[in-house]
Amino acid sequence: MGYKFLKLASISVRPGSFRIGVRGYATTHDADLVVIGAGPGGYVAAIKAAQLGMKVYSVEKDPTLGGTCLNVGCIPSKALLHNTHLYHQAAHDFKHRGIEVGNVSFDFKKMMEYKANSVKALTGGIAMLFQKNKVNLLKGVGSIVAPNKVEVKGASGTDTVNAKNILIATGSEVTPFPGVTFDEKTIVSSTGALSLATVPKSMLVIGAGVIGLELGSVYQRLGADVTAVEFLTTIGGVGIDGEVAKTLQKILDKQGMKFKLGTKVMSVKNEGGGVSVEVEAAKGGNKETLKCDVVLISVGRRPYTKDLGLDKVGIALDDRGRVPVNEKFQTKVPGIYAIGDCIHGPMLAHKAEDEGIVCVEGIKGMPVHFNYDCIPSVIYTFPEVGWVGKSEEDLKKEGKAYKVGKFPFLANSRAKTNGEPDGFVKVLSDKATDVILGTHIIGPGGGELINEAVLAQEYGAAAEDVARVCHAHPTCSEALREANLAAYCGKPINF
Ligand code: FAD
Ligand code: NAD
Repeated sequence: MGYKFLKLASISVRPGSFRIGVRGYATTHDADLVVIGAGPGGYVAAIKAAQLGMKVYSVEKDPTLGGTCLNVGCIPSKALLHNTHLYHQAAHDFKHRGIEVGNVSFDFKKMMEYKANSVKALTGGIAMLFQKNKVNLLKGVGSIVAPNKVEVKGASGTDTVNAKNILIATGSEVTPFPGVTFDEKTIVSSTGALSLATVPKSMLVIGAGVIGLELGSVYQRLGADVTAVEFLTTIGGVGIDGEVAKTLQKILDKQGMKFKLGTKVMSVKNEGGGVSVEVEAAKGGNKETLKCDVVLISVGRRPYTKDLGLDKVGIALDDRGRVPVNEKFQTKVPGIYAIGDCIHGPMLAHKAEDEGIVCVEGIKGMPVHFNYDCIPSVIYTFPEVGWVGKSEEDLKKEGKAYKVGKFPFLANSRAKTNGEPDGFVKVLSDKATDVILGTHIIGPGGGELINEAVLAQEYGAAAEDVARVCHAHPTCSEALREANLAAYCGKPINF
């Protein structure tokens, strides 16, 4: 910050600050924008705002930047998913491809170190980006004490930022399970599951949503006996197309993961040396006690707004604990905005990032446009699941007339040659106009392929538009083209 210290009697003073005894100091700063929380929503918004010429302060309470996504979410889970997939292929798939590697084994400690190194590199990268873009970082807990004032309580004292604008990007936390304490060793949330000391012999997953399926896959591939208990009768969480969910369940079932659907959990007890979980059919009736070494509870996340001082500025949370905002991400208090997991919409890193960008553009007077119909979702199982837009269930509920174009990866030359023929692409388009309403992929590289569908849908493409675009051969993307062809004229070429 480059302050000059002035000696005044016995107090060291620097412009805008004064030291208080030995307990710490108070510093004041002026800013165009202060962003509270440096997760993917907050750190991206801070960088964008600095790039647009604003003087920006970013406030983060945790020791490293990147929030849930980089520290205990997207990145560590994908490191474990990728490496356990490679291990599983080497152990169970290489031989029939003519690849001999002898006895394949894994070193769990090293896998965890690899994961930790990925996290370290990426969180450190944000600190460098902050420096490069001249974003000022304040480490500590931020709270809003007045409409244009944020106080930051850090290890060495309190900073005050007088800011023209305040952006809340404080994210989310694990939803607790009634009557259960996470010890993060035997009864774990996703955070504990990302850092287990050993691979458990058996793991019970409560909630077969995104986290349950991804982290359940990690341990199942490493030899754990994994059972997922799910309240609903389908897996995959909110928004997944029913046909895709059923296909995914069949494939994961073949891989060895077990499912107890339509089942509610009554109690979870740590019995030392193991956990006992009482379950009952969701409709009532059949009770059962299940035993396991480790239980992963993944029943959702909830917005995090603790210590923010929203009551001091008159901002009340909605019925789901979210910060209410309008289409420009403005709260009811002028100059205070909110984005990411702590507001409405899906809890996804890319949604938080994009909201951050358009929100600060809006502060600069630029147009604000955010299309919630075009946010992709991906489940990073093997095969991957990716979707965007409406599911068949959504369209039926809306009473919308639609066409279905489907193409199986079994008929895609690249997927078949690679020995990865499971799954399909399904395109849903408007019956009258052919405009694409939704795309659903389960298959190899589904998490990458879906981005082409997002681009098409964001630009209002018709299925015919995608079907007429030349796609490289042989690629799995050709399955997306063929599904669009099927939606538009009812006849794919290769199936
Ligand atoms: P967060 O990332 O939660 O960041 C909020 C930040 O604010 C935190 O660093 C917090 O310490 C800080 N903070 C809070 N209050 C204060 C305060 N008062 N003062 C200072 N700092 C404060 N999403 C995907 O899109 N793809 C994935 O593959 C994916 N995988 C995931 C896997 C797991 C296991 C989990 C748990 C989540 C995953 N997610 C994934 C979801 C994703 O992590 C979140 O949607 C995303 O991190 C939300 O970003 P955010 O910036 O809104 O909040
Ligand atoms: P989720 O909402 O995806 O799944 C929770 C599941 O738990 C649901 O299927 C729900 O029906 C079930 N459930 C709830 N209460 C239950 C109970 N008492 N007994 C049995 N089942 C119960 O939530 P999650 O998997 O915890 O993930 C949290 C958030 O993190 C999600 O919003 C997701 O978007 C995000 N996330 C995203 C990714 C990704 O993008 N790949 C990965 C991980 C997490």
